[in-house]
Amino acid sequence: MQAMNLPSVDEANLAGGRIQRSSSLVEDVYEAVFAQLMSLKIAPGSRITVDSLVKEFNVSHTPIREALGRLEGEGLVLKTHLIGYRAAPQITKRRFDELYELRLLLEPHGAAKAAVLMDEAKLAQLQKSAGVMARREGKDERLRYSNFARQDAIFHDKVMEFANNELVRETLAHQHTHFHIFRLMFHSRVTEEALDEHEAILAAFAAADPAAAEQAMRRHIEHSRDRLLLAFD
Ligand SMILES: [Zn+2]
Repeated sequence: MQAMNLPSVDEANLAGGRIQRSSSLVEDVYEAVFAQLMSLKIAPGSRITVDSLVKEFNVSHTPIREALGRLEGEGLVLKTHLIGYRAAPQITKRRFDELYELRLLLEPHGAAKAAVLMDEAKLAQLQKSAGVMARREGKDERLRYSNFARQDAIFHDKVMEFANNELVRETLAHQHTHFHIFRLMFHSRVTEEALDEHEAILAAFAAADPAAAEQAMRRHIEHSRDRLLLAFD
């Protein structure tokens, strides 16, 4: 991995491109590496050496290892005994197709159920997590992209939480779908169009309309699939 040009994690925590020591050091390192993985600055399959991150972020080995351990738990980083860490390879086309089939089987139905059970408090949580309000925030394109990947994961997980089937929710969460699909390409179109679709889903929830929620969720997932399918050309 090339050194430097760390994407700004949290402008307040950075000075001269380096992460300053703080109580949330692991969190900062984690976010910085996460942003590099999401925006493909760290290429899928490439080696990640602890020493190079130590130099890049000017921190000790411990927070780097902790951050990499967390990314390993999310399936974004692989650790091989005696060899070390590397970025997880890109998902295959077959796995991509399988993930979208799974999502289309579960999420539109989940959205319909969530719409039936919707109330003001749940709607407020969904509006907050849909990423729509943060639309224009921040200038760093890589950071915006990785933030959206995370927001998208939270939003879809919330919908499944409100659909009230923990097994289905766990099954989807276990795939870390959003992190893998956003890593297929780094393009602002992916986020801009998805935000419009999230607004359509929110409108259906606001109307507590299960049929509209099911349809809006289905459309969103199908469009997401079509946008990212280009990565396999
Ligand atoms: Zn989404």
